[in-house]
Amino acid sequence: MDKFKTLLIFLWALFFFFIIFLLIRHFLYLRWLKKLQSTPLDKTDIDVLNKMEVYNKLNEYEKKVIAFKIKRFKKEKEFIGIKINITNEIKTTIAFFACLPTIYNKYYCYDSLKYIYVYPYTIIYNHNNTANGIMTKEELLISGEAVGESVVIVWDEVKKEIHHNLGRNVIIHEFAHELDFENGIVDGIPPINKAFYKEWTKIMFNEYEKFKQKSILNRFLGKYSLIDSYAATNKAEFFAVMSEYYFMKPCLLKKHFPDIYKELKKFYKVQTDVC
Ligand SMILES: [Zn+2]
Repeated sequence: MDKFKTLLIFLWALFFFFIIFLLIRHFLYLRWLKKLQSTPLDKTDIDVLNKMEVYNKLNEYEKKVIAFKIKRFKKEKEFIGIKINITNEIKTTIAFFACLPTIYNKYYCYDSLKYIYVYPYTIIYNHNNTANGIMTKEELLISGEAVGESVVIVWDEVKKEIHHNLGRNVIIHEFAHELDFENGIVDGIPPINKAFYKEWTKIMFNEYEKFKQKSILNRFLGKYSLIDSYAATNKAEFFAVMSEYYFMKPCLLKKHFPDIYKELKKFYKVQTDVC
């Protein structure tokens, strides 16, 4: 009996110290976050950000939050270069566009994401396609990919998109998929406020169906030609592509697809239509 009692006391003590350890670790993490929040961005980071049209449109509060988020993202995520050296410019650019859609969720930092793989050029996947019993070899060109704990980004594509802003942005695209995946399934519905859910899904999915129909009939028709037809692939791609335009070509999106703009604004909250 005594032995049993001693074992019980030992287990309780172990449990107690484990809880204390978790509390101390959490306290130290919060202290680290607070310190990070009050540390200004390096001049080299600000130089990179000043080149971005969308950064210069942010208000003072948004700039303050994004600075904190960029520092945290760069410290918490592991950047892995595949045949490319990871520079500060690469890290800051990816951190900026990844965190931009989450500004109004100040302490969120893609918790399940661990690795960012950066490739210099478009990745070519050789893929065997079997349809109607006939096997064909296909080449898939990939400029980005999001798979839960890792995101793949092609740096050459990022540079092109920043230099010639046509509305597309592979970083925003892949991180929109990461946000979409937050509720466990990539279905074009990110974790939107419950109060907006019904209207949000109704409008976004109606717009998706219209877009898909127009793309099948004539993808170069009127206002539909302004948006990359990749948005017609499925609901998840529609959400990711429209998110790109929300940040990169907000005035175009607001003018031609006001309902989509309005719904995305409910989710992202960042005032992008400073035209
Ligand atoms: Zn996609």
